[in-house]
Amino acid sequence: MGSFADEDYDELYKVVLIGDSGVGKSNLLSQFSKNEFSHDFKSTIGVDFSNRNIEVDGKIIKAKIWDTAGQERYRGLTSAYYQGTVGALIVYDITRKVTFENVERWLRELREHMEQTIVVMLIGNKADLGHSRAVPTDEAKAFSKRENMFFMETSALEALNVEKAFTELLSQIYRGMNRK
Ligand code: GDP
Ligand code: MG
Repeated sequence: MGSFADEDYDELYKVVLIGDSGVGKSNLLSQFSKNEFSHDFKSTIGVDFSNRNIEVDGKIIKAKIWDTAGQERYRGLTSAYYQGTVGALIVYDITRKVTFENVERWLRELREHMEQTIVVMLIGNKADLGHSRAVPTDEAKAFSKRENMFFMETSALEALNVEKAFTELLSQIYRGMNRK
């Protein structure tokens, strides 16, 4: 995949990352946008979004991906956060069951802010910690199917499926919008 000048694109999509604090949202984003991982939990507080261009069906898609900047810790996210969103990644941690149970809450909050159906991908992150797994893959897969979400397990630490998850989400958004 090539790299592109930042202002040279065919489509611009806003995508949001949501999910409980500590599940790895900021590291998934930095891995996707900068190939970086950080062991420091608070390192990305204050960052609102990151951009990256990818190619889908010969078109350049510019993704503007919003991160919560730590807001998810205290309350739900604001309308401004969700405004203009065309896709979402809802992230949980495969080693912390409660973060999976809370996905329903995040999905509800997302849908309350959306006027139309958007593309949603459920992400089970920290797949490198399989020895402490608390959420079976099958259970998450079945849940995502029921709720009409795409599903993938990732590791931001090992850069496993990170590129694939974002690319799949952006491709699905593009194809959904350009379907005749
Ligand atoms: P956020 O609160 O959802 O943005 O989570 P962060 O991206 O800040 O990550 C929270 C903590 O989990 C940090 O200590 C990260 O280093 C760690 N972390 C994030 N992703 C992974 C992963 O895929 N595997 C492992 N082992 N740790 C991770
Ligand atoms: Mg964060």
